[in-house]
Amino acid sequence: MTLTAPPQSVIANAVTLSGVTKVYGRGSNAVLALDGLTLDVRHGEFVCLVGASGCGKSTLLNLIAGLDRATGGDIQLSQDRAPTLMFQDPALFPWLSVASNVELPLKLRGVPKEERKKRVAELLEVVHLSEFAKRQPHELSGGMRQRVALARTLGQDSPVLLMDEPFGALDAMTRDLLHDELERIWTQRQLTVLFVTHNVREAARLADRIVLLSSRPGRIIYETPVEIPRPRRIDSTEVASLAAEVTDRLRQEVGRHGR
Ligand code: ADP
Ligand code: MG
Repeated sequence: MTLTAPPQSVIANAVTLSGVTKVYGRGSNAVLALDGLTLDVRHGEFVCLVGASGCGKSTLLNLIAGLDRATGGDIQLSQDRAPTLMFQDPALFPWLSVASNVELPLKLRGVPKEERKKRVAELLEVVHLSEFAKRQPHELSGGMRQRVALARTLGQDSPVLLMDEPFGALDAMTRDLLHDELERIWTQRQLTVLFVTHNVREAARLADRIVLLSSRPGRIIYETPVEIPRPRRIDSTEVASLAAEVTDRLRQEVGRHGR
């Protein structure tokens, strides 16, 4: 008997972007935000997308999430379930408790009450907030609020997480803790993560692969696998030296545009 490798087409990607273009507005006001962006994200892969402010990172995540439509090109998702998008602002309802904030999307999806209560308890456990279930958002720190948002996001059971600078507003220590938690959840749930940041160290800490976008219009100018063994520390020399290399690339790119 001979063993043959499966054909390449069997190993489907979680997200496939082919020549994605986005133009905002029209006529003389038109802004070309993305210009023919092509990118494959494998199942279970953690990809960090890095680029200068205004280069089209949020635009790209919005298109993948289906919140907006591409002007050209093609976006393929391998699963029926829509990806879930998480932002820098946790956007919790201030009048709802922590548990109710996490429960709301389950309620909207029609999950029965008993099951909902169970799911909420599990989700709060995952983000280590069980003791804060009955608190209001204003009673929590910024990092805890972002963990509530993460629990709510995970409650969508989406295999693909799109994260738009989710930890950008947090202090360094809180952010480090959330990196550890996100990494643990990503491994346990075998998620695919597309994570946007302008923090190159954060990208080197988290990613399997770093993808660099050019200044507007966004297109991919550089990418590198991150082969540093996990668990990683953001202040390790390996992370720092890879971050320095990627930062140099980014500087060249920003310099080229005279910013
Ligand atoms: P990033 O997230 O990388 O900072 P964005 O995706 O938010 O960048 O924006 C990319 C470019 O598209 C920017 O120049 C921005 O001003 C422009 N842009 C974003 N949203 C809109 C919109 N709704 N209408 C017009 N221009 C927009
Ligand atoms: Mg943005």
